[in-house]
Amino acid sequence: MFGELRGLNEECGVFGIWGNENPAQLSYYGLHALQHRGQEGAGIVVKDGKQFRAVKGEGLVNDVFSEGKLEGLKGQAAIAHARYTTAGGGGIENVQPLLFRSSTGSLSIAHNGNLVNANHLKQHLERQGSIFNSTSDTEVLAHLIKKSTHPTFLSKVKNALTLLKGAFSILMLSEEGLIVARDQHGLRPLALGKLGDSWVVASETCAFDLIGAEFVRSVEPGELIVINDSGVKSDRFVEPDKRAMCAMEYVYLARPDSEIGGINVHMARKRMGKTLAKECAHIEADVVTGVPDSSISAAIGFAEESGIPYELGLIKNRYVGRTFIQPTQELRERGVKMKLSPVRQVVQGKRVVMVDDSIVRGTTSRRIVKMLKEAGAAEVHVVISSPPMTDPCYYGIDTSSSEELIASSHSVEEIRDAIGADTVTFLSVEGMVESIARQHEGPERGLCLACFTGKYPTEIFPDTILPHEKELIR
Ligand code: AMP
Ligand code: SF4
Repeated sequence: MFGELRGLNEECGVFGIWGNENPAQLSYYGLHALQHRGQEGAGIVVKDGKQFRAVKGEGLVNDVFSEGKLEGLKGQAAIAHARYTTAGGGGIENVQPLLFRSSTGSLSIAHNGNLVNANHLKQHLERQGSIFNSTSDTEVLAHLIKKSTHPTFLSKVKNALTLLKGAFSILMLSEEGLIVARDQHGLRPLALGKLGDSWVVASETCAFDLIGAEFVRSVEPGELIVINDSGVKSDRFVEPDKRAMCAMEYVYLARPDSEIGGINVHMARKRMGKTLAKECAHIEADVVTGVPDSSISAAIGFAEESGIPYELGLIKNRYVGRTFIQPTQELRERGVKMKLSPVRQVVQGKRVVMVDDSIVRGTTSRRIVKMLKEAGAAEVHVVISSPPMTDPCYYGIDTSSSEELIASSHSVEEIRDAIGADTVTFLSVEGMVESIARQHEGPERGLCLACFTGKYPTEIFPDTILPHEKELIR
């Protein structure tokens, strides 16, 4: 169907802790809980007085911090990062947290999200003599802080943050403390928690559960929090703009046991499944099955609402690597087959509703429909618990071109034909918003829906630096 395609990029996970005797060990556990957000690389930077030490590597958390690697990492605070390439490509120099040492003190940065004006800022900084060490957009922030002419470190940070556009949930470890910032739309999640007398910050609350920390609150859009031995101080670097939390976090990205913006992800997915069942009440079927793992919650909701029994129609082989990030279409197709198997006894002769959370290129759905039919399913009705993904994401789920998205060029009927299903139904945009954020006010209920609607909450590629911004960088 499609030729050679670049892998879609997933998210990253960040974790930070201040005021603890075991910051490296706890960060390691935190990263484990956030591993689903990035598998390409991981790193922990520990602060011990004025000393900063980093352990980083490519691969899974377990491999990077194998036996003994954390033993020497003593200190009182740490930040950590699980990476999936969002901007700048792979390579060890891009594995975060980034660590900068200078005569004025060390600074480490971990970032989740994607800056839409990073290239532009970078060109501007390079013209002024900055030399970049990585291709990561995160490094831009360090240069902006260093170049700022503001008097104190915190005012430099604040000034630099006002220049960033796009999605960022950022943790910085400095001699001043653990600094936490979230972009003015709150595109990526970030939560604050407490573990005894220590403060913790993480992309998702599932990291708190693992280490026994308690969730305190979400970091607010546009908020700057400084955590140090004097306590927690909240400030703003910018006024919050229209809230635009990524809807795909609820659809696919986040772990079902996480709470994002006060909404449990599993419950939101279940509601999406229920709403979807209401929207396709015309479908007659014998069993409902979900594509493991991310679609199980929606499939349960669909079955509950429709009254069609939920069955284990597909089994996941947990010991096969991820299919989605395979570099070529051929490898991805084989990957799907190795990863999932149909349960013949469940589907044979049955009209099957197959629930998946999203269709990106259509590879997964097409393979599964074929698999279910080969296992004897009489009919396969594909129901998707999100709307057609028509537009690329520039905020960290780097669907970098529309060609990657089947729904950008195919109607629902053409998608049905391409994946060989008997019917295909997508959840409506309104149905998704209502299911995720029913308790929230306002027409868009504070969600980014850009990949489904093409309406982006920020400029996409600002190609100018405004005069007042130039002043700030000078
Ligand atoms: P595709 O096979 O290209 O249509 O991709 C759809 C499948 O990928 C679905 O089963 C989703 O669960 C999963 N998926 C959706 N978004 C992402 C993402 N950003 N990264 C990795 N997998 C994803
Ligand atoms: Fe999330 Fe889509 Fe918005 Fe990207 S465009 S932040 S994937 S909702």
